[in-house]
Amino acid sequence: MQSTFSLRSKLPSGISIFSVIGQLATEYQAINLWQGAPNFLPDQQLIDSATMAMKQGFNQYSPMMGVPALRQVLAEKTAKLYGARYDADKEVTVTAGGLEAVYAAITAPVHPGDEVIFFEPAFECYEPIVRLQGATPVAITISLDTLKIDWEEVAAAITPRTRMLIINTPHNPTGAILEKRDIDRLIAVTRNTNIVILSDEVYEHMVYDGMTHHSMSRYPELAERSVVVLSLGKTYHVTGWRVGYCVAPAEIMEEIRKVHQYLVFSAPAPMQVALAAAVENPESYLALAEFYQRKRDILLSYLAESPLDVKPCSSGFFMLARFSDFSNYSDRDFVFDLLRRMRVGTIPLSSFYGDGTDTGTIRISFCKDDDTLREGGRALSNWRQ
Ligand code: PMP
Repeated sequence: MQSTFSLRSKLPSGISIFSVIGQLATEYQAINLWQGAPNFLPDQQLIDSATMAMKQGFNQYSPMMGVPALRQVLAEKTAKLYGARYDADKEVTVTAGGLEAVYAAITAPVHPGDEVIFFEPAFECYEPIVRLQGATPVAITISLDTLKIDWEEVAAAITPRTRMLIINTPHNPTGAILEKRDIDRLIAVTRNTNIVILSDEVYEHMVYDGMTHHSMSRYPELAERSVVVLSLGKTYHVTGWRVGYCVAPAEIMEEIRKVHQYLVFSAPAPMQVALAAAVENPESYLALAEFYQRKRDILLSYLAESPLDVKPCSSGFFMLARFSDFSNYSDRDFVFDLLRRMRVGTIPLSSFYGDGTDTGTIRISFCKDDDTLREGGRALSNWRQ
């Protein structure tokens, strides 16, 4: 019998490279330098607090916008770090990870036919989320030689239909951060426009070599049009707890909450209670820069011995390495070769471009315990064609 049933896919088909690498990595028992998730335990006290919260009965839905104590400490933290006053009741929302905040922040203001500017290589969720709105993603390529945004190109890409500009600083996958001069240019290109800035700052505390993180919330002219997205999963090594948050002016936040309430309604309650206690101690997040800089340097010390051309990495927990000077492989084949022969997993940078641009570069993650970094670093440094 002929079926009348048919589905029209809203997103391109095919399984993501992350799943492919994950399967192969398991098969080859490879060292995991591909995934942006720590392989070490979070603070024991945090686990104890979450367990305690469950025993105390925090096992049902939390308030839709997040546990009040957590929103309060997050508002205070933002004020202390960036001098920005967000109202904990109206301008801070706890989400199911930074990813949900990104989804809600794009869905709320972006309508069919709108254009959304973002920069490639990019965290892979922006483009599909924009497409799901019936909107047009407009990608601007960042040069891998300079890792700098070309603001002339941004100005030229803005049209009357531009509804949103997505910034990601510190940046996944390049490890670059925006500098003050970028902020000045961003203020200039968005002035007198109706553009909402989505600023993905989930790696805000992982900034190295004495550099400064320039949050949109630090600059009133930007903060008034920005949704800033952050991740407690990243900050506290608990990506599986799915707790993130966003801050935005009340008018924008009201719309974001309308999406959030039908998407997940609320983030996991016991985790929010535990994290509220953790965020009260600034050392718990301020120590992160030194913690990850040390890990970056362990990996770098091995990569210095390798033929790979490693790009400067001043933030986040990923670095880029170019292999194309001495190999004709595509970046996917290079990654498969590393998996097969060196038993180390990395990610081909082409997966961070909508059109799969191959720049002969891989992304390496350093949010791993020291032994994994040493083993993985040694394997990469021993690679020869
Ligand atoms: N933004 C960027 C740039 C990321 O790299 C990630 C995680 N890989 C997220 C957002 C999502 O963060 P979370 O795990 O808190 O959902």
